[in-house]
Amino acid sequence: MLNRLTVSELTAKLARRECSAREATQACLNQIARVEEHVGAFLNVDTAGALAQADVADATLKAGASHATQPLLGVPLALKDIIAVRGQPLTCGSRILEHFVSPYDATVVEKLKTAGAILLGRLNLDEFAMGSSTENSAFQLTRNPWDLERIPGGSSGGTAAAVASNEVIAALGSDTGGSVRQPAALCGVVGIKPTYGRISRYGLVAYASSLDQIGCVAKDVRDAATLLGVVAGYDPRDSTSVPQPVPDFASALTGELKGLKLGLPREYLVAGIDPEVKATVEAAIARLAALGMEPVEISLPHTEYAIATYYVIAPAEASANLARFDGVRYGLRVDGADPIEMYARTRGAGFGAEVKRRIILGTYVLSSGYYDAYYLRAQKVRTLIRQDFLKAFEQVDAIMTPTTPSAAFKIGEKANDPLQMYLEDIFTISCNLAGICGLSVPCGFTASPRLPIGLQLLGKPFGEADLLRIAHAYEQATDWHRERAPLAVA
Ligand code: GLN
Repeated sequence: MLNRLTVSELTAKLARRECSAREATQACLNQIARVEEHVGAFLNVDTAGALAQADVADATLKAGASHATQPLLGVPLALKDIIAVRGQPLTCGSRILEHFVSPYDATVVEKLKTAGAILLGRLNLDEFAMGSSTENSAFQLTRNPWDLERIPGGSSGGTAAAVASNEVIAALGSDTGGSVRQPAALCGVVGIKPTYGRISRYGLVAYASSLDQIGCVAKDVRDAATLLGVVAGYDPRDSTSVPQPVPDFASALTGELKGLKLGLPREYLVAGIDPEVKATVEAAIARLAALGMEPVEISLPHTEYAIATYYVIAPAEASANLARFDGVRYGLRVDGADPIEMYARTRGAGFGAEVKRRIILGTYVLSSGYYDAYYLRAQKVRTLIRQDFLKAFEQVDAIMTPTTPSAAFKIGEKANDPLQMYLEDIFTISCNLAGICGLSVPCGFTASPRLPIGLQLLGKPFGEADLLRIAHAYEQATDWHRERAPLAVA
């Protein structure tokens, strides 16, 4: 049952020699063998590689290494299949990269390896991280471990489902408009999207470069803090990473919330939210107030423009970033009579419908004659949205919202209605537009069926430690994060 442990529980056991990294890895592999046919979180499991890494970790432990210097030594993790691991497939959930193998490690992967982590394999996602349900993967569905008829969220659906079903101890995803926080909320685990620039994006395949951040998914807040501490930091290979010192996030978990101000944006608890989600989040506000936080009503007046702004900027950047998949440099090539026909055939066959929709939309808003009306205007609104947050943070230490307007929806329910799908991100998207940090922590369940609900905390630029502190104190006062889907513990 070692697969059920958190990072802190497992490393404590490893340090006391109560188990080996190989046993922990084998426990995760056994769980994968048992539940994967139902969950479908993995695109690829590297069994031999994982066991070999586990043996190295065991030898390192035996030689006296400690978790003080290698915080993830012997801990089995997995990564969303959009983060490059040398020698491993890097499909981005797309046919166009179906047979592509990464020639290099992302910076976060170098850091995980240095910290002693064991990488189990590649996790499913919406194609190029475009989506909110993982239904846009070219390869397979991922199902929510709490209800196999439902989506796990997206685009990091495989990441959240793998952690929630105890197939891995923790995992990394990426978040451009909510893709770490939303699936974490819908699967009942913790997800953090740090401030833009906190984690290097070197080796993260670009979707919308001004919004993309790597994020951590874990079973509790302490684990999220540990993982973030390992992967965060300035990287000269990513010019958007920021030379900010990385605090010791674990030391922020003091349980002390007295005097902190909690902003409640009046634009967020609006009509359209599921009544159970609303009631649950209101209970969480009361709980945080009881722990010493002072609720303060605030206003983020440009909230109503966030989705429209995002769906101009993200497709614009995506259309530019995805131009590199041309049949020449990476992955799939479908031959044609001349290069133009080859490009067209390759991209026609290689990209799925949602990716094509974004490329067309993005090309349109960037084209001459429309650039000013759409792209430039969206950039201006984006600045207003960021200013809303910076102004609010003059008054409060963190802002609280639901992570999603409702719990996990049924597979197929929104698949043919892109606009409904886009609305799923209504609470998560502004955080990326503003470049601030955000976290989702479990805060309750719907009654029937029993589905997890997430509480979102938004923080100041580089204020991750504050968010972790608040979420941790909340976790200590509640038991939501301890509940696992029946399938995960059967
Ligand atoms: N659902 C949003 C989109 O489709 C966000 C995805 C993400 O954060 N990668 O763009």
